[in-house]
Amino acid sequence: LTEKKFILAGNWKMNKNNSEAAAFVNKLIGKIGNEEKIDVILGVPFTSLEKIADITSGTNIKVSSQNMYFEESGAYTGEISPDMLKDINVTHVILGHSERRDIFGETNEIINKKIKKSLEKELTPIFCVGEHLEEREKGLIFNTIEKQIKEGLNEIEKDEINKIIIAYEPVWAIGTGKVATPAQAQEVHKYIRDLLSEMYGEEVAQKVTLLYGGSVKPSNYFGLFIQKDIDGGLVGGASLKEDFIDLANIMN
Ligand code: PEP
Repeated sequence: LTEKKFILAGNWKMNKNNSEAAAFVNKLIGKIGNEEKIDVILGVPFTSLEKIADITSGTNIKVSSQNMYFEESGAYTGEISPDMLKDINVTHVILGHSERRDIFGETNEIINKKIKKSLEKELTPIFCVGEHLEEREKGLIFNTIEKQIKEGLNEIEKDEINKIIIAYEPVWAIGTGKVATPAQAQEVHKYIRDLLSEMYGEEVAQKVTLLYGGSVKPSNYFGLFIQKDIDGGLVGGASLKEDFIDLANIMN
């Protein structure tokens, strides 16, 4: 573990309506109180962002969208701009999630444009990378990650890299119940840290927050989160339930 503040981030995906979202977050606030040991970030659907930002205002829970567009405004039907998010006190944005890549065709180039725009607007990107099972089986883990990181961070300068959170989420572990072993996760986290070190220098690379995501729950988090290069977790399925409140409590 490093001296960085540990992060527990949730990704609700397309789940919870407004009242369900509010009920869950009120419960979470009630149970974790206002302890400051970890940062909790909630990835909320667009429709509940404003409400959850209001409810969590003054707590150490931060609110993230799960996507955004890279243009300022205009004829982009169905899209949401960074200024719209800032206006309702959203602080983070999940970018490049594997579901955005695989279902909605987002490329490294599109994700790079979004990361650059989020930085310009002072929204913290949670930039997701990760290999498919097929790539792992072909021995292409590092090639895949290298391409995602280098293209995703194209034209991002050294003074900006510490404003980015990177999440390693092996696609085969997302929503499958198949968690990476602590050794498998640490191996890739170390690879990412070394790559960042090559790109930006050792000192900066050490400060980057690297989250692990993929079927994390209270029964398996510990081995993962004690790894040297793992600074927290991005949690999908378990973030919808009591499990997330338990995780926040144990980690705090
Ligand atoms: C995710 O989608 O970011 C994720 C980690 O999902 P799950 O925890 O359900 O595997």
